[in-house]
Amino acid sequence: MRPSCLFPLFAPVTTLAGVGPRLAPLYEKLAGGKVVDLLWHLPSGVIDRRFSPKVADAPDGKVATLVVRVEAHFPSETPKRPYRVRLSDETGFLHLVFFHAREDWLRKQLPEGEVRVVSGLVEHFNGEIQISHPDHIAPLDKLAEVMTVEPVYPLTGGLTGRLVAKSVKAAIAKAPDLPEWQDGPWLARQGLPGWHQALMSLHTPADEAAATGDTPARRRLAFDELLANQLALALVRAQMRRLKGRVLRGDGSLRVKALAALPFSLTGAQSRSLAEIDADMASESRMLRLLQGDVGSGKTVVALLAMLSAVETGAQAAMMAPTEILARQHFATISPLAEAAGIRLALLTGRDKGKARDKVLAALASGEVDILLGTHALFQEDVVFKDLALAVIDEQHRFGVHQRLDLAAKGTAVDMLVMTATPIPRTLLLTAYGDMDVSRLDEKPPGRQPIDTRVVPLARLDEMAAAIGRAVAGGARVYWVCPLVEESETSDLAAAEERHRALSEMFGDRVGLVHGRMKPTAKDAVMEKFASGEFSVLVATTVIEVGVDVPEATVMVIEHAERFGLAQLHQLRGRVGRGDKASRCLLLYGHPLGEIAKARLEIMRATEDGFRIAEEDLRLRGGGEMLGTRQSGLPEFRLADLTLHGELLAAARDDARLILERDPDLTTPRGEALRILLYLFERDAAVRTLRSG
Ligand code: ADP
Ligand code: MG
Repeated sequence: MRPSCLFPLFAPVTTLAGVGPRLAPLYEKLAGGKVVDLLWHLPSGVIDRRFSPKVADAPDGKVATLVVRVEAHFPSETPKRPYRVRLSDETGFLHLVFFHAREDWLRKQLPEGEVRVVSGLVEHFNGEIQISHPDHIAPLDKLAEVMTVEPVYPLTGGLTGRLVAKSVKAAIAKAPDLPEWQDGPWLARQGLPGWHQALMSLHTPADEAAATGDTPARRRLAFDELLANQLALALVRAQMRRLKGRVLRGDGSLRVKALAALPFSLTGAQSRSLAEIDADMASESRMLRLLQGDVGSGKTVVALLAMLSAVETGAQAAMMAPTEILARQHFATISPLAEAAGIRLALLTGRDKGKARDKVLAALASGEVDILLGTHALFQEDVVFKDLALAVIDEQHRFGVHQRLDLAAKGTAVDMLVMTATPIPRTLLLTAYGDMDVSRLDEKPPGRQPIDTRVVPLARLDEMAAAIGRAVAGGARVYWVCPLVEESETSDLAAAEERHRALSEMFGDRVGLVHGRMKPTAKDAVMEKFASGEFSVLVATTVIEVGVDVPEATVMVIEHAERFGLAQLHQLRGRVGRGDKASRCLLLYGHPLGEIAKARLEIMRATEDGFRIAEEDLRLRGGGEMLGTRQSGLPEFRLADLTLHGELLAAARDDARLILERDPDLTTPRGEALRILLYLFERDAAVRTLRSG
């Protein structure tokens, strides 16, 4: 249960004065629907209103606060003309300009003959000094209140700066004083303020640097966020450790047969990873290992050999893929090997219904099935194993931590192997997995040739299409990925359909089309025709299923490559270069090409190393918005910026470990405070793993 001291922060924004049902959705869009979301909505800069010159000295283009006497009102003659008010001091005239003004309101604010404080952006226009729509109009006794430094917040349509600032202020007023959850001496050493004070100084900055710089206040909040993240991961991990593991030590009898049936031998990286997995499985505690390997690095075989080892002990294994296509592909790849090893393999996806499904389930429950492959369907309640000992999760970024645990719950002391093709940099890996053990396939299978990557303007599309026509005539198989149109699935589709039509005119009926709106069966049918070679060209919208393996494909064309993120481009390009033939990747770009887009395409041209690409991506975009972060399911931070706060992340990890060593159930006073921290950053699920939680 969330502690009651946090209730005001987790109330909807409508509990703030001035925020009603009309504004609530706008705040929701801007920052989030809860009061706490506004606390994390940090200023993007400041407006300094402390400059208070005489009218004649007020420079063009600068924000100033002026003390002036109201002389006369000049209401607009037509609705198109502005309402003007003339004011003055002893040095000259100031004109205030209002469009769509309400006369009665203006006359009340600016009574003729009275002195007023006026603050806003000064403009010199047609020989006059003016301010249009001043930010502040106040009586003289409010001068000190106006002459301050105001935070400026990021906005969204329909919300003004003034409204947002007011609401954030109201949100801060609701922020309670919370017990300190950080280690006091550490805070002092780092020179970091308390939580409440940090919030205050970020939202009432004294200058630009205080608002946007890497200040102690900012670092304090960033560290809070990172500690919540690391502590939550450590708790989940500790829970898994607490559950005893079982010793799985296969005798190698099945593996030998599968290896003999493989048309290749394992790479050094595959053997090394497998040895690491074997050691985990043979140990008393539970395995929780991440197998990280770039696209095409050969993760599937490693997973299969691990599963065979579990089967050798008499237990069962399961492997879950994120999509139907992938699950089927795994089934197709693994089937002949399973047959060679003499074990029973079954497939279970959402598409299996009725009798066929019942049959698989019965065979699974009785132990006739040794290895089950499938999709999310494996989570369903009536999927019962006789004795599940190893669960493999492929392309894990589409599944959450909870689903991982759900699958584990289907057996006793299930070992977990998680596989990802996302080349996550070390720092980010920590945020997503905590200190999960990692094996890396950092070596491609032999015989792979480098992919010849070219960056070409879209203007040369016809020329490229002709060249591809020649390649197709020579038997090549080509992926053609169509432009990503922002936020519109329909226009994505239209573009892909148009390209499909145009290419069909050139190459006849050898061109297939897949897109996100197709029924899974129709999608599979097209993919199969491409895999079998019936189609030479596969036109696809942005998603060619992650992990699809057609080793014969040697050309990848990406239209409007500048609209894709680096991680995405890398994943797409990884669809080719999987066989022993030379492959090509054409990145077609449109104008205008921004600096960052240009840098991204250049990186793609320069390297195929997924880790280097990921690091560059991180550098180019900053951790918070690293492209591919969203797809990869990595947590996004609101306060921490991993390009700045990488070392804080490491400190948070160490701190989390130490905390749980000393106080595994968070029952000391600091532990209690840390529980509040976890709730504050919405890691409620992690608190629930505590025995006395
Ligand atoms: P990913 O890591 O992307 O899942 P896969 O497991 O799909 O990669 O493997 C990619 C391709 O490489 C497959 O066609 C697979 O048969 C092949 N492969 C895997 N290991 C080796 C190896 N040691 N030698 C040669 N080819 C291999
Ligand atoms: Mg794979």
